[in-house]
Amino acid sequence: MEEIKNEKGGVSVSTENIFPVIKQWLYSEKEIFLREIVSNACDAVTKHKRLVSLSEAEESKEPYRITVRVDKELKTITVTDNGIGMTADEVKKYICQIALSGAVDFIEKYEGKDAGGIIGHFGLGFYSAFMVSDTVDVITRSYTGAPAVKWVCHDAGDYEFSASDKEDRGTEIVMHINDESSEYLSDYKIKDILDKYCAFMPVEIYFESAEAEKEAEKKKAENKDGENTEDVTPKPINDVSPLWQKNPSDCTEEEYTEFYRKVFGDYREPLFHIHINADYPLNFKGILYFPKLNHEFDNMEGQVKLYYNQVFVADNIKEIIPEYMLMLKGVLDCPDMPLNVSRSYLQSNGYVSKITAHIVKKVTDKLNSMMNTERERYEKLWKDIKLFVEYACLRDRKFFDRVKGSVLLEKTDGGKVTLDEYLEIAKEKHENIVYYTSDSTAQAQYLAMFDDAGIPVVVLDKVIDTQFITLLEQDRSVKFLRIDSEVAQAVKGEGEKLESKELEELFRRVSGNDKLKVSFENLANAGVPALLNVSEDMRRFDDMMKMYSAAEGSETGAPMAETTLILNSNSPLVRKLADNPDERVAKQIYTLTLLSQRRLTASELKDFLKTSFDMLEKSF
Ligand code: ADP
Repeated sequence: MEEIKNEKGGVSVSTENIFPVIKQWLYSEKEIFLREIVSNACDAVTKHKRLVSLSEAEESKEPYRITVRVDKELKTITVTDNGIGMTADEVKKYICQIALSGAVDFIEKYEGKDAGGIIGHFGLGFYSAFMVSDTVDVITRSYTGAPAVKWVCHDAGDYEFSASDKEDRGTEIVMHINDESSEYLSDYKIKDILDKYCAFMPVEIYFESAEAEKEAEKKKAENKDGENTEDVTPKPINDVSPLWQKNPSDCTEEEYTEFYRKVFGDYREPLFHIHINADYPLNFKGILYFPKLNHEFDNMEGQVKLYYNQVFVADNIKEIIPEYMLMLKGVLDCPDMPLNVSRSYLQSNGYVSKITAHIVKKVTDKLNSMMNTERERYEKLWKDIKLFVEYACLRDRKFFDRVKGSVLLEKTDGGKVTLDEYLEIAKEKHENIVYYTSDSTAQAQYLAMFDDAGIPVVVLDKVIDTQFITLLEQDRSVKFLRIDSEVAQAVKGEGEKLESKELEELFRRVSGNDKLKVSFENLANAGVPALLNVSEDMRRFDDMMKMYSAAEGSETGAPMAETTLILNSNSPLVRKLADNPDERVAKQIYTLTLLSQRRLTASELKDFLKTSFDMLEKSF
């Protein structure tokens, strides 16, 4: 057996500057020191389990566990495990030399570079304890039965070795918290960090607080004769086998919902979930949830948490999860993820792009399978997932190609159809045209005419719809027309066509737009004297310009793009007006058609009301 002599040393010449660097390193992410130390403890346990399974170590007499203890008075945080432990030589080799040279490499490579994001989440390991400590003690006893050793390392880089009387197997890391980091001596803070990073680590973790214990003692003493003094068995703070690690066929709906609530603190039911369980060669697991996304301008930021072997790494890593998937909530565990690298490396990494592709496949498969096997449920969900699907299609052509058959259009009667189904129903009336309304109130007049003509109309009333229909149009030969464009084409009737240059002139005059196109058509519904027809392409262009120029709310009554006033030759009112042109009547008719397009300006409305009241007065 090796004998442990009291021994002093310095961490190594080439590394004399490492501690100041570590102390400043990722200042904003100081809290990760705890994750690093606790995950080392987890690894030590895992290694012991493995040796046992290989019959190279004796079975553990105690259950495996990790304790994190905060002692505010002593100013220490102690992490204890009953894992593999280390011999004195191993401490020298793994902690003094290898770990340190690893940390040095790391810092030389990345110091001063992109410090946010993934970089720095891993790799600092043991030495990250010096971000918050001025001295760290490692007291450890190897499973081999070699004598226990105590190694004390100061933040100046000097250390001391001595023998230890530690009797049980495992390692105790005592961090003597420095004055600047005293916030980490708060129970609340430490529990919070454990919750964030260690909630799913694979070994049971127990939290202890010296302060809380003293309080409890005191209470117990005061309450000597009281009844309720029985000890409660402590519970681990973590869940050692998170749901994503289980086989999907062994998980119940309740478990998925409960997991969602616990992890995201969201008490609403998620719409549905996807359990990803990719084996060789990809090897990653996860659960993605679709939360409700009702409103277009809701905060659509979801939360996808990335784990590395059940150790939390970060939220919403854009290099791994396609940006549009970040609307979802979920967990992904990627044990093969090369984390200790730069962003640009991740972006060009084959493993990462395969993961992304696999996630896209899983999500689109799920949508398609719901569409094909649970159509009713899928239709009900549609209003909540429409936004996500359309956005994803716009952002990722592959996503679109995979799900286009499962994209639904909502008809004005509430029914939901695919593009193909719509075209099939409408085939007799028109081909390869989808008529839509963007505002069923303003466009009610047109809608009524389409209803009369038996032409189905779909509702596309979101800003994103405009872009989305362009995508559909580019994909195949189909044209989306708003019901106020080419309306005469769709709802044409029979009859004799009226022609009157005088009426045309009259309407141009009352509209105040001397370029207004006026045309006569025979519409099926004789009750509609006139309609404004707005060219689809010009209107889309106009909408786009409005969106970009942020000229929001400028309802100035500016002329609309390519507007044609259609006068209905079949309307008795129009016929009467042709025989007897009347400026006031023409103006009223024009203003009424305008209502379907925009709000009236103050002066238009004033005139309109005045004339209406005058006419009413004379009407009886
Ligand atoms: P990494 O964990 O990335 O290897 P660290 O600096 O965190 O780097 O640790 C260096 C080495 O020290 C580990 O690989 C392990 O061999 C040893 N070690 C650290 N913590 C423990 C522990 N709690 N029990 C046993 N060995 C440990």
